[in-house]
Amino acid sequence: MNAAANIPLIEMSNITKSYVMAREKTTVLHKVSLKVDHGDFLAIVGPSGSGKSTLMNIIGCLDLPTEGSYKLEGLEVTGQSDNKLTEMRNKKIGFIFQGYHLLPKLTALENCELPLIYRGLSGKERRLRAMDALERVGLGQRMHHRQSELSGGQQQRVAIARALATNPPMLLADEPTGALDSKTGMEVLGMMEELNRAGQTIVLITHDMEVAKLASRTVIIRDGVLSEQAQERRSSDETYARLQDGSQERIVQ
Ligand code: ADP
Ligand code: MG
Repeated sequence: MNAAANIPLIEMSNITKSYVMAREKTTVLHKVSLKVDHGDFLAIVGPSGSGKSTLMNIIGCLDLPTEGSYKLEGLEVTGQSDNKLTEMRNKKIGFIFQGYHLLPKLTALENCELPLIYRGLSGKERRLRAMDALERVGLGQRMHHRQSELSGGQQQRVAIARALATNPPMLLADEPTGALDSKTGMEVLGMMEELNRAGQTIVLITHDMEVAKLASRTVIIRDGVLSEQAQERRSSDETYARLQDGSQERIVQ
């Protein structure tokens, strides 16, 4: 276990985010406090427009809060320079987006090597790490395929492998199954469950209550206000069965 394992991965207190447009100030996050430990699988669930992506951008060091403190593995993020933010982001976070963001001309393997290029690794080392990440998501047989030769679910698995290739302490996923049908989406989520069981910390952002139940812990965001939600964890198989028989409560109210 590494030394950082004792400090929370995420420690936010009283984060506020406001935008000023046409001299009007709009506050979209209100005093958000959140702690995530290493090994957690946290879902942040809320309806459209509630502030999920804004919060994800702050968690991912893509944006800074207006007020409050955010420590990422003990390091204060607020007030850092752009260069330092980029460094923290590259070291600590693997991003997964709804739209995969793969480069279509590159193979699965080359896509996974991309984030390693900036790390001064040799070509051989990069290749080994990228291959290992693709094996972990079950795409060992598809390494040399390009985007157009992969299904939607496979493309998202390549994106997950690319996020894993740098061994980030945290995977941060914004609506990762939003573009997939429910069966394929559940397969992708089942894979994330497995990664978490193997120790990977995951923060999953979704508007879908059924998806959130796969996590070990859920917080709800409504109008920029965060609250803890007690829940029973469900497996992806169970969730898939519920989706089939229509007994799901899909959208958070
Ligand atoms: P969600 O991801 O939950 O749909 P967002 O975080 O994208 O919600 O947006 C939350 C609120 O913040 C919305 O009302 C949105 O219009 C507003 N917002 C998001 N980004 C900006 C921005 N750059 N400037 C002004 N308002 C923004
Ligand atoms: Mg969003």
